[in-house]
Amino acid sequence: MTAKEIRQAFLSFFESKQHHVVPSAPIVVKNDPTLMFTNAGMNQFKDLFLGEAAIKYSRVADTQRCLRVSGKHNDLEEVGIDTYHHTMFEMLGNWSFGDYFKKEAIAWSWELLTEVYKIPKEKLYVTYFEGDEKEGLAKDQEAFDLWKQYVDESHILPGNKKDNFWEMGDTGPCGPCSEIHVDCRTDEEKALVDGASLVNADHPQVIEIWNNVFMQFNRLKDGSLQSLPAKHVDTGMGFERLVRVLQDKTSNYDTDVFQPLIQFIADKAGIKYGADEKTDIAMRVMADHIRAISFVIADGQLPSNNKAGYVIRRILRRAVRYAYTFLNFKEPFLNQLVPLLADQFKGVFDELVSQQDFVQKVVLEEEVSFLRTLSTGIQRFEKYQAVNNIVEGTFAFELSDTFGFPIDLTELMAREKGWTVDLVAYEQALKKQKDDSRAATAIDTSDWVIVNADDQSEFVGYDDLEIETEILKYRKV
Ligand code: ATP
Ligand code: MG
Ligand code: MG
Ligand code: MG
Repeated sequence: MTAKEIRQAFLSFFESKQHHVVPSAPIVVKNDPTLMFTNAGMNQFKDLFLGEAAIKYSRVADTQRCLRVSGKHNDLEEVGIDTYHHTMFEMLGNWSFGDYFKKEAIAWSWELLTEVYKIPKEKLYVTYFEGDEKEGLAKDQEAFDLWKQYVDESHILPGNKKDNFWEMGDTGPCGPCSEIHVDCRTDEEKALVDGASLVNADHPQVIEIWNNVFMQFNRLKDGSLQSLPAKHVDTGMGFERLVRVLQDKTSNYDTDVFQPLIQFIADKAGIKYGADEKTDIAMRVMADHIRAISFVIADGQLPSNNKAGYVIRRILRRAVRYAYTFLNFKEPFLNQLVPLLADQFKGVFDELVSQQDFVQKVVLEEEVSFLRTLSTGIQRFEKYQAVNNIVEGTFAFELSDTFGFPIDLTELMAREKGWTVDLVAYEQALKKQKDDSRAATAIDTSDWVIVNADDQSEFVGYDDLEIETEILKYRKV
């Protein structure tokens, strides 16, 4: 099955179970101070779970574009190095808002994986919440008993609170979850170690694909749990991981989700994918990062110097530096991947298709601007000698201030040399510069009074103004 067919099969399956298929929410979150980017399918339904919005459809399914590069879920350091964590990925999900519960959710996830997708049963492991006495949480016996109808007991594993109990926050809806993991190892590998011991153990071929959350409690301010009158189901399955399993690959990057991008990069670089670990990682990082960058821009957040805009600028600069250093792309290149990506997402996320030219132009401009200082910055770094394997904070600051190197890029380059960065000293240098410029501003603009002294968002240029103008100029409404 192609990736497109796999996605469609998921949506059609849940449609056949009376689910209403809804569009993905944007990846950029504008109306929630606790979240910059959508990091799970359930985000757009938060108000429904909290009982603060009316339920229109009690059964819903979709594919949600997600980003995990900040906050609670930050997978950035894994990306390109491992084969199954991405910055941007699609989360396939089905929901019940006060409608069906564990029995149907478990039955359908099993039916879909084994009968529609035809994954051999012996490859699958499922987990259930084992309970937590200290926290006063009971074992999820119900899920265990339900799984027993389908799965051999040796493949049903208990899981702790960290992996198998979901909470929205300190208070609010919560409940146990049940995950599905796939053992993609070869028979020889399987003979060596029992698959059960590798579930949730970060093994590259024993991977988690689907999480089924059963919201059955409401945690009150005093920490106690109240049973919810209407129980909900919230599930999330990693689309790229599912495709990898179904296409029988050992890496998400070997599927038709990533191969067109990787082959394009390899062709232009004149280097074969698979030739060398370093160039492979660079190709994977670029293929991954361009997806994150493109969707964030298409959803209305341009690269800038603060908050969400800076997160995306950092990712972009990281990709440019990988391209420059390991694949010898000395001219802007990343932007050329945008049309390819837009083509791939036609009929899935048309937001990218309709804004393809705009997104490409923004990426190109960012590349041009960073490439202007990148080579001098890299030369400075190459000449630099760390003291006791530690990069001084003042030097890291110089790289960021003069050459536009985000701190995590400096950390990455340091790591490649076996060094670390003195982050405390870096923060001090950064703070000193802010204090100095505040003091200077206070003198220069004596006509102006800064009303809110606690305001943390400092002036960093005209980015926001530019954004507005750019959007007006290019965005097709
Ligand atoms: P993992 O333990 O592999 O980091 P998770 O437990 O953090 O995954 P969940 O929050 O349960 O993930 O999200 C539901 C599903 O989304 C996961 O089962 C997985 O298939 C997928 N997923 C999570 N993070 C990523 C990622 N960074 N890239 C691709 N797929 C992901
Ligand atoms: Mg994770
Ligand atoms: Mg997990
Ligand atoms: Mg999980």
